[in-house]
Amino acid sequence: MKKKQDEKLKKLTFISTNHTLCPICAEKFFKEELLTGGGRLIAGKLTDELRRLYEPSARFGEVSPLVYPVTVCPACYFAALGGDFEKVEREAINELEKLTAFRRKSAELMFPDLDFKRPRALKEGAASCYLAMACYDHFKPYFMPTVKRGILSLRTAWILSDLHRKDPGANFDYAAKIFYRKALFFYRLALERDQKGEEALHVKANFGPDTDKNYGYDGILYLSGYLEYLYGDKKDKARRLKTLQYVKRLFGKIFGLGKSSKNKPSPILEKARDIYTKIGEEAAALAGGVVEENGED
Ligand SMILES: [Zn+2]
Repeated sequence: MKKKQDEKLKKLTFISTNHTLCPICAEKFFKEELLTGGGRLIAGKLTDELRRLYEPSARFGEVSPLVYPVTVCPACYFAALGGDFEKVEREAINELEKLTAFRRKSAELMFPDLDFKRPRALKEGAASCYLAMACYDHFKPYFMPTVKRGILSLRTAWILSDLHRKDPGANFDYAAKIFYRKALFFYRLALERDQKGEEALHVKANFGPDTDKNYGYDGILYLSGYLEYLYGDKKDKARRLKTLQYVKRLFGKIFGLGKSSKNKPSPILEKARDIYTKIGEEAAALAGGVVEENGED
């Protein structure tokens, strides 16, 4: 008995006793869930991308909570964030069923030897986010698929960066950059669709972007701006200047909202202020350059 308890204390995850039914292929499977108490998660620093880092613990080693939130059917690779998995609408089921072979092939091309029947490793985590990104293309606007695809792209990039750290020769850093750019694309599109009334961002929804905290609509404004600043087009000076001005306007909204509410998530305000200053410096340097180039001589 004692031995059994000790075994449990050493575990990082457990297998759910309730089965999940895949709405696409009717496979029954049991989800792997992360255990969180008992010193398993030691919170470290919050990055400028609003990612929570965790310190490895002596007992459990490195823990990556991002590997678990996406439910993946081990048979057909249909994937979605926990609550959405079994709610996919009937119209989408047909389309998603037709894409099964393609979905499996594209995931395995990027991450060979995937196995969703075993406890997840980093590559299953990255693949789970990637697969859900693909599947959300078929979800109705009510599910807010665009912003979710942004969040999942960002998480894919984060896990790929972890894989790169462990295996620097495998080009995971190159893949991570692709997913950062995808994240930028979807965050930008999510704001546009919200403003046009095509896909409303529900105020109370959890927008992460990480699993530790919900930074809400502010988080979307902030990340949209920050990703634009990091990964937006830098080649054309005049265009870059426009981008920087756009990011300043987005951050201006965060500062404006910050004044009217006492419950603002303060890390965002602090980070946005620092980046705002850097953007100002870059814009000033660029503006000088643009004037010189256009100047008469
Ligand atoms: Zn399935």
